[in-house]
Amino acid sequence: MSNKIYVAFDGTEFGTKQALMEYHDLLKLGDEAFAEKRKQYLVLKEAQTKACLAIFNFRDQCEHEYVKIKACSDTGNYDRSQDSYWYEIECKCCEDRWNEDQSTSKYKTSDRNTEWIR
Ligand SMILES: [Zn+2]
Repeated sequence: MSNKIYVAFDGTEFGTKQALMEYHDLLKLGDEAFAEKRKQYLVLKEAQTKACLAIFNFRDQCEHEYVKIKACSDTGNYDRSQDSYWYEIECKCCEDRWNEDQSTSKYKTSDRNTEWIR
């Protein structure tokens, strides 16, 4: 996602040129009630886009220090090399979720910051 900002005549900021142009068209439009409502929506949508990007960046920077972990396995396969062990992890700070192979994970059962789910 690009960080370029498009600023309207009245100072309202948009993340896309398309939204800015529609906003300008609405300002010129005769039906003020509709223009005002649509403008409100575009501004909300813009705030949502910014918040989503902020959350994405927050998760990217998060150290995931305090986590909940469930140890999972798929064992008893005829071909033992197909057996697998992994962690289902959820960060208690940023609520990000992901899976990791148990053998390469940095999280250990002795970690004090880790809550183990059974
Ligand atoms: Zn996190």
